[in-house]
Amino acid sequence: MAYKITDECISCGACEAECKNEAISEGETIYTIDPEKCTECVGIAEASRCAEVCPIDGCCTPDPEHKETKEQLLEKWRKLHPGEEPASGTY
Ligand code: SF4
Ligand code: SF4
Repeated sequence: MAYKITDECISCGACEAECKNEAISEGETIYTIDPEKCTECVGIAEASRCAEVCPIDGCCTPDPEHKETKEQLLEKWRKLHPGEEPASGTY
């Protein structure tokens, strides 16, 4: 399930550099996550890095409108990182 950023975002920018899928960018009012690139950190880390670094609890949260299985998320990661191997313990 891709993550999303809620309206509580204070645009601190901390999450952007943490996303190794480059799924996060600065929007007009808040930061946003591209669901085509968010793998819920499958392939990258054991837990969602954006949620871990965000100073606002619950601001980076799973988006129920983008439900995906772990297998689908890993496939998405592989398409984003051709020729690379996913980090162990992340899928
Ligand atoms: S959950 Fe991971 S992949 Fe998704 S936006 Fe956050 S840091 Fe990026
Ligand atoms: S870390 Fe949280 S508050 Fe900061 S830009 Fe990202 S989503 Fe917004």
